[in-house]
Amino acid sequence: QAKRQGKNTWRWFDERDNLTAVEQVRLDTHLRLALAQNEFEVHYQPIVGLGDAGVVGYEALLRWTSPVLGPVPPAKFIPVAEAHGLIEPLGEWVLRAALAQVRTWRRTGGPTVYVSVNVSPLQFSREGFVAGIAALLTESTLRGEALMLELTESALITDVPTSVGKLRELRALGVRVALDDFGTGYSSLSYLRQLPVQVLKVDRSFVNALDDEGVTLVQAVVTMAHGLGLMVVAEGIEETGQAETLRTLRCDLGQGYLFGRPAPAVPVDPAQEQRGSPESNAGKLERGQS
Ligand code: C2E
Ligand code: MG
Ligand code: MG
Ligand code: MG
Repeated sequence: QAKRQGKNTWRWFDERDNLTAVEQVRLDTHLRLALAQNEFEVHYQPIVGLGDAGVVGYEALLRWTSPVLGPVPPAKFIPVAEAHGLIEPLGEWVLRAALAQVRTWRRTGGPTVYVSVNVSPLQFSREGFVAGIAALLTESTLRGEALMLELTESALITDVPTSVGKLRELRALGVRVALDDFGTGYSSLSYLRQLPVQVLKVDRSFVNALDDEGVTLVQAVVTMAHGLGLMVVAEGIEETGQAETLRTLRCDLGQGYLFGRPAPAVPVDPAQEQRGSPESNAGKLERGQS
């Protein structure tokens, strides 16, 4: 109905958690055309060292603005894309765009940042997934170190042996893998030892609850992660107090509105790109609006 309500369309998405079958089909129709019609954009959110607040990388976050439906959040359209066989072309598009962006940042001589790309469980489960990543790296003339992939536990635990095989192949390419939304799944500890991942992203719900018990939880996660040789990123940091607490807890990296909202990459000045100016900042992004 929202479509017929004109200017209120975007609220339709905010007010409903689950889409009915009919609504999904309608979303699917628009989604199907969206790639061809260039309605997607990648925004980048800085990931910083909690010790020195320097930017080490950016998370790529997909944005869709439909001319009919308005901006649709990824939490709404990703599941629809998954259900309608669109996640693979979409996932490939994001990877290609993100790698091209890192390539541009590096060509302009800024600090060596990586890009961290979310991968749908369905995408990861495909047989040719790692080969596809290798091909995209070759295409972008980047080494694997430029790329991190964010996967949730659920993507990895349905078939642990196969997942382990793919994670090893990715590691051989130099591509790092982060466990996203860590702490929200149910199998965290048992599988962690078996899965060759390099980074844990502590879910924002923990960062939001840094009271006595919350601190104890995060401390335990950091200790465990470091014991296993993993880096820890805290998601959803909005306040300096949270960043300070997490730093004291020896959390390595942080991400959140405090450091920067997801934003489009600022186009690089072509003259500067040719010179490859060493002064230019790889983290040239608009701060502020998402
Ligand atoms: P995620 O990977 O856990 O991404 C973090 C989400 O937290 C993003 O929401 C980001 O905008 C938001 N965020 C970052 N800092 C803060 C903060 O300080 N406070 C609050 N309240 N939120 C913060 P977003 O962009 O809406 O994405 C939601 C989810 O959609 C992502 O969660 C990810 O699971 C999925 N997603 C986004 N882009 C892609 C994509 O390209 N491919 C796939 N497969 N999934 C994607
Ligand atoms: Mg993520
Ligand atoms: Mg996350
Ligand atoms: Mg999350």
